[in-house]
Amino acid sequence: RAKSPHASGACFYQADMDAAVRERRRLVSDLRQALKAGQLSLFYQPQIATGTGRLRGHEALMRWQHPSRGFVSPADFIPLAEETGLILPLGEWALRTACAAAAAEPRLGKVAVNLSPVQFRQAGLAVLVADILAETGLPPDRLELEITESTLMQDPGRTLEVLRAIKALGVSVAMDDFGTGHSSLATLRAFPFDKIKLDRSFVPEIDSNPQARAILRAVVGIGRGLGIPVLAEGVETPSELACLRDEGCAEVQGYLIGRPAPLAALSLSEPAAAA
Ligand code: C2E
Ligand code: MG
Ligand code: MG
Ligand code: MG
Repeated sequence: RAKSPHASGACFYQADMDAAVRERRRLVSDLRQALKAGQLSLFYQPQIATGTGRLRGHEALMRWQHPSRGFVSPADFIPLAEETGLILPLGEWALRTACAAAAAEPRLGKVAVNLSPVQFRQAGLAVLVADILAETGLPPDRLELEITESTLMQDPGRTLEVLRAIKALGVSVAMDDFGTGHSSLATLRAFPFDKIKLDRSFVPEIDSNPQARAILRAVVGIGRGLGIPVLAEGVETPSELACLRDEGCAEVQGYLIGRPAPLAALSLSEPAAAA
C-alpha cells in the first residue's frame, strides 16, 4: 500500500491517529477508576460582593490527581467525561460533595456547582438536586447551579422545564461564561437566571481599552434592566477590580480575590454575608 511518498505520509498520519485514539482510551479508562480511587477532589474559589468586598460564596471546581500524569485540568477531562457519559456519576459526586461541604461549613457561603449539558438530558435532575439537599441538610438558598449556553441550546424546551423545577426548590441558577456563546441575549430573555457570569475573556483591558470597557458597561446595563446581577470572572488586577466597581458589576471572582483551593486551605475568617 505504501508505495508513493504520499501514501507513506498518510501511513504516518494514520499511526499518529492510532496513538491518539489509544491515548484517549487509556485516559477514559483511568477516568473510570478515578472516582472510586479517590483521585477526584473539589477546589473552591471565592466570590465577593464588589461594593463591600464581603464574601458571598465559592465556586466548586473539580480536580483530578492522576497517579502518573499528575494533575489533569478539568478543561481536558470534563469533555472526555461528557463524551463517555462518565460526567453523570462525576457530576453527581461533585454536587453531593459541594453540598455536604457547604452544610458543614457555613462560612463557605453560597456554593456554586457547574452542571454539564449531559446532566440536563438525564431524567430526574431536579429530583437528584432535591435528594442531595435533603441528604446533606444544605438550605436550598445556599446552592447555585452554573450552566452554560450549550446546555440551553441542546433542548431548550426541556431545559427550561428542568430549570423551573430546580428554581422551584429554592436553588438559584447562574449563566456561566456569558458572552462566549451564539445567542447569549436571546437565552437571557427566555430563561430565568439569577446571575450572569461574564466570561473571563472580557475582563482583560477593561481598565485600558475603551471597547472592552464599553462591552462591560453594556452587559452590566442589560443585567440591571433585567434585574439580574452580573459577576465578572477572572479578575486578576486591582485596576480591573476598580473598573468593575465603578461600572456597577455586583460580584467578582478571580485570582486577585483568591485562587481555587482545597477546603482546608481556604481562609474563611470572615463569616459569609447572607446570600
Ligand atoms: P468555569 O466554570 O468557567 O470556571 C472558571 C475557570 O476559570 C476555572 O478553571 C478557574 O480556575 C478559572 N479562573 C478563575 N479565576 C481566574 C483568573 O483570575 N484567571 C484565570 N486565567 N483563570 C481563572 P478550571 O478550574 O480549570 O475549570 C475549567 C472549566 O471546567 C470550568 O470553567 C467548568 O466549565 C469546567 N468544570 C470544572 N469543574 C466542573 C464540574 O464539577 N462539573 C462540570 N460540568 N464542569 C466543571
Ligand atoms: Mg463555572
Ligand atoms: Mg465560567
Ligand atoms: Mg468555562
